[in-house]
Amino acid sequence: MTATPDRRPMIGTSWKMNITVSGAAAWLAAARPLLEPLTAERDLFVLPSFPAIHVARTALAGSAIGWGGQDLHQDDAGAHTGDISGSMLADLGCRYAEIGHSERRRDHGETDAIVGAKVRAALRWDLTPIVCVGERDAGAVEPAWAMVEAQLEGALGGLGPTELERVVVAYEPVWAIGEGAAAADPSHVAALHVAIDAWLTARGAAIPRVLYGGSVDERNAAQLLACDGVGGLFVGRAALDPRRFAAIAATPIAGSPRVTTLERSA
Ligand code: PEP
Repeated sequence: MTATPDRRPMIGTSWKMNITVSGAAAWLAAARPLLEPLTAERDLFVLPSFPAIHVARTALAGSAIGWGGQDLHQDDAGAHTGDISGSMLADLGCRYAEIGHSERRRDHGETDAIVGAKVRAALRWDLTPIVCVGERDAGAVEPAWAMVEAQLEGALGGLGPTELERVVVAYEPVWAIGEGAAAADPSHVAALHVAIDAWLTARGAAIPRVLYGGSVDERNAAQLLACDGVGGLFVGRAALDPRRFAAIAATPIAGSPRVTTLERSA
């Protein structure tokens, strides 16, 4: 990763539709003592299911570990049955709102325009949007970047530098996510991260923050964190065990050769 004094590594997890409220209490009780010492150097966050957010608020109170929602509605209130607003997340002490995960795009038809509206809603409530982007199919860097660039333009294109500065982008190639998948090759990860970094920087974000997500585990975390442009990790399955998440969060961070151009992955 391109380390700067101002950019702390950020490592977080979304539990997706896993872990009940009772399970959340146990996960957080096990994780807190393992994670807390790491917060001196890293920004850590947990995104439980909506019913368990209040459990995180209680269990993580007084720590530097952040919590947040896996989605929010673009409106602040109103007739939207089953949805959750930025005001509700803010009221629960959330610091983060995940937006535009590929499963929400797939299951709920979320478009880049909707993702963009949700990003604005998060910013209105002082939540840090974690905006997921990523190509659908495995392959070369250029078509992957074409899809990711379109997602960035569609969702974030209208934001100014001050707003972009507050956004975290999670690069999550869809083909690298979930059961049976494997993490993207480091050269592919670096090329996409450098391109996303450059896109954000060109629009005035002084210190872009781009996380990698997709089959991260304790075996590949160091290699992924060492990829140029990777500012942290977003973890799914491997984090369902709090000890495994803590091991990933504790990964030592090494430097790596700089990637300056889009390089075709093998
Ligand atoms: C994800 O879907 O955001 C994710 C990172 O999942 P996994 O780590 O399970 O591939």
